[in-house]
Amino acid sequence: MTDEFKTLKKFDAGNGREGFLHSLPALEEQGVGRISRLPVTIRIVLESVLRNCDGKKVRRKDVETLANWNAKSPANEEIPFVVARIVLQDFTGVPLVVDLAAMRSAVKKLGGDPKIIEPLVPVDLVVDHSVQVDFFGSAKALQLNLEMEFKRNRERYQFLKWGQQAFKTFQLIPPGIGIVHQVNLEYLAKGVLSQGSEVRGRRSEVFYPDTLVGTDSHTTMINGLGVVGWGVGGIEAEAGMLGQPVYFLTPEVVGVHMSGQLREGVTATDLVLYITQLLRAQKVVGKFVEFYGEGAASLPVPDRATIGNMSPEYGATMGYFPVDQESVNYLRATGRTDEQCRAFENYFRAQKMFGMPRKGEIDYSVDLDVDLADVQPSVAGPKRPQDRINLPELGKTFRELLEKPVADGGYGKKNLDLHEKYLVQLNGSAPRDRAMASTDEIDQGVNPGDERNKIEMVANRPTPDSGKDIEAASSDMFTHGQSRIGHGSVLIAAITSCTNTSNPSVMIAAGLLARKAVERGLRIDPAVKTSLAPGSRVVSDYLDKTGLQKYLDQLGFNLVGYGCTTCIGNSGPLHPNIEKAIHEYDLVAASVLSGNRNFEARVHQNIKANFLMSPPLVVAFALAGRVDVDLSREPLGKDKHGKVTFLRDLWPSLSEIKETMQSALKPETFRKLYRDFADQNPKWNEIPSSTGDIYQWDEKSDYIHEPPFFENFSMEPGHIEEIRGARALGIFGDSVTTDHISPAGAIKATSPAGQYLISRGIDHGDFNSYGSRRGNDLVMTRGTFANVRIKNLMVPGTEGGVTRYFAPAGETSAGPTGKMPVPQGEEMSIFDAAMKYAETKTPLIILAGHEYGTGSSRDWAAKGTRLLGVKAVVAASFERIHRSNLVGMGVLPLQFLDRRSAQSLGLDGSEIFSITGLSDKVRPGHHATLEIQDKDGKSRSVPVKLRIDTPIEIDYYRHGGILPFVLRQLLTR
Ligand code: SF4
Repeated sequence: MTDEFKTLKKFDAGNGREGFLHSLPALEEQGVGRISRLPVTIRIVLESVLRNCDGKKVRRKDVETLANWNAKSPANEEIPFVVARIVLQDFTGVPLVVDLAAMRSAVKKLGGDPKIIEPLVPVDLVVDHSVQVDFFGSAKALQLNLEMEFKRNRERYQFLKWGQQAFKTFQLIPPGIGIVHQVNLEYLAKGVLSQGSEVRGRRSEVFYPDTLVGTDSHTTMINGLGVVGWGVGGIEAEAGMLGQPVYFLTPEVVGVHMSGQLREGVTATDLVLYITQLLRAQKVVGKFVEFYGEGAASLPVPDRATIGNMSPEYGATMGYFPVDQESVNYLRATGRTDEQCRAFENYFRAQKMFGMPRKGEIDYSVDLDVDLADVQPSVAGPKRPQDRINLPELGKTFRELLEKPVADGGYGKKNLDLHEKYLVQLNGSAPRDRAMASTDEIDQGVNPGDERNKIEMVANRPTPDSGKDIEAASSDMFTHGQSRIGHGSVLIAAITSCTNTSNPSVMIAAGLLARKAVERGLRIDPAVKTSLAPGSRVVSDYLDKTGLQKYLDQLGFNLVGYGCTTCIGNSGPLHPNIEKAIHEYDLVAASVLSGNRNFEARVHQNIKANFLMSPPLVVAFALAGRVDVDLSREPLGKDKHGKVTFLRDLWPSLSEIKETMQSALKPETFRKLYRDFADQNPKWNEIPSSTGDIYQWDEKSDYIHEPPFFENFSMEPGHIEEIRGARALGIFGDSVTTDHISPAGAIKATSPAGQYLISRGIDHGDFNSYGSRRGNDLVMTRGTFANVRIKNLMVPGTEGGVTRYFAPAGETSAGPTGKMPVPQGEEMSIFDAAMKYAETKTPLIILAGHEYGTGSSRDWAAKGTRLLGVKAVVAASFERIHRSNLVGMGVLPLQFLDRRSAQSLGLDGSEIFSITGLSDKVRPGHHATLEIQDKDGKSRSVPVKLRIDTPIEIDYYRHGGILPFVLRQLLTR
């Protein structure tokens, strides 16, 4: 245990326990900085920097710089942040576990003990991203969707099961339990952690704040509990798992002072939509946001968590609420032990970080004010979460957008008759328990006999290839009856997303609204695909206990699964006749969901208008069946007596919600539901899985494959050497995103990855996505630079992963007449060219414009680059995380100087490149030379800057990346 600043102090950890902590007040007493005026987020990061200060990974200078954080002009320095734990979801988590398994195999081959490969900090992986809403509106939907999920993901789950038993510090929450951020909030987060350590010759417990990074952008939900954490890409998470710091630039911190109270009829969702709009306009991208003041203190933790969760939507790295009594109460109410709760409270008190700060107590970079009383019932959309619309204005706004030109963000429809509706037959053999809706609009709809407006088809329902049970039950997928749909018809109504399902007040409000609707005999139109997918089983427990689930069921909001579903776009198919009608009449149909993202095609590829809203409003709009309506004035339906019913007739009061909540939420429920996951999950238990410390790689699997990162691994790190005789694999313009470099979506049959899968006997229909095959380097390497929209300027006028191959002098190919010279500049796929270059050991480079690697952080964008044989990327500028990911994979990032670019240098890819001036002596920011030999033999050279930015990155690069670096460290321990 290092104690560079002699700040290790004793404190009362509660329940008679004595603990130690790295004291920030003690650091301030030494005059290192005015720490007590720092934002709480900065102080928590500072504690980590202080605790991990060892002179190399973390230096004294790092502590001093952060302790002197200047609110108005933060130093532009990288902070080495060692986090306490990591959370993963299954999409991004699988490749990380594959890497750990590959490291174990490498150690075994070297004759070492594979068990030395173990995450150095606790890692929790929650399987939540794979469930899709194939079945809905039925009591069997939950079980059937789960069966489909297991069938589709069997290979990945088998592998994860192996990982679960192989790594001690790796906990896996199987499918059907919940959503990663809600599970984190309700169960995984501890608030404060401790580790046994030698302190002054005695074994002692050293306490430190619970901090984390997660491989999902909404990791920030945990900020609502006072835990510092945010979403990162796979390589940073991998580094964090292996005890390496996560680096980030000293941020600005925006202080949002909250005052007042939410008004009757306003929900936490309304508040978060209000804050999203406000903070987007304030340009908080890349900043920390800290909420404080008496308004913040009045919010319960679930409301704070909803606000924290949507940080990515307002652009902030975090949306943080300091720890106070409310945070401790939440831990207690969710079944955490008394010991845990006391340690949490006492730790933050001892660090002088307990309690909601008041105005003027902390120095922030920017000060903002929010009066909670200003918040009104709202929705957001139809394309961006920050486009908030006051509820009464939705109908008007939608109608305007319908006619607005596409270039101005509208839908470009002309001469609309919004009363025009198209009749759709909804055939199916097992009707849901609901009849046709009877809203005014539909009652006044077009004459059903009018052929112009009629689509009648026998439902060509897709039959899930999923075994007998599912075959038999698949008729539940769609309902009987008929419907009339048009522009603005609600076709998906989803109570989804941990953003809201973690908040009992809005879930109970949805149930209470459903109860009142059912009691009045209101129904939902059968064209609306209704679903309820909470982020934990606790929600079902309280909806059952309060008797509210049965009303939701009667409206079709049956439970479909415990996972992300519609929030991640797994909304499943609509009835084929509905999809056909949308296409045929080019309808701007709507979804209403309690999720957090709504850009086009995210929720469903055929639904163009997507509105985010609170769960009770989701139920209300499902009842109304349309979004071109002002629910504050217009009725949402007729009751069983034919009397019009308004939203105000159904809306529950705050006291009703509070009363119902109190009778339902008990700590024992959390304790009962968050234990023995496997025992409670028979389907998971049925999955056969290998055991042992080493994974038995199965050559037959096309989801999991041993990556070649440790082929020819030796204990000696390499040297930093000049790169000579390189060819360009691609020349790109500005703003190439990580999705251009490593797409997540569909795999084209004609692409190298598609051709590879076909050669493995896999039908196009079973390709699945790149995202689901991230455990297989053979697919992912072929998919690198394979985005159908990427433009390689070496082949002007084309899109997709194509390049030109320049053969070394004298290379021949076998033609019918014998040896033929290879044509220079032959057009081929980037993957094929890379493999041909590999045959002659020709190093490769990428040339790019500004903001190379922008977009969400994606480990395969760097891994795939490396596996194609790319040694360096020379760009006008880099996106921060992708740059560090390239170094983390042993690929050299270089930056053009003096506004030069591939274009200004007139490069077309026919040149031969060398990068000189590289040796083991290079330091961060070193200048090297890019030597360019044109095809006519002329040479020129331009200076370039090494974008290896920190001393530890020099080590990573010399070792060939983070993974070999850490492996060598572990093997020499
Ligand atoms: S529910 Fe939505 S926000 Fe939550 S983890 Fe899933 S995809 Fe992310």
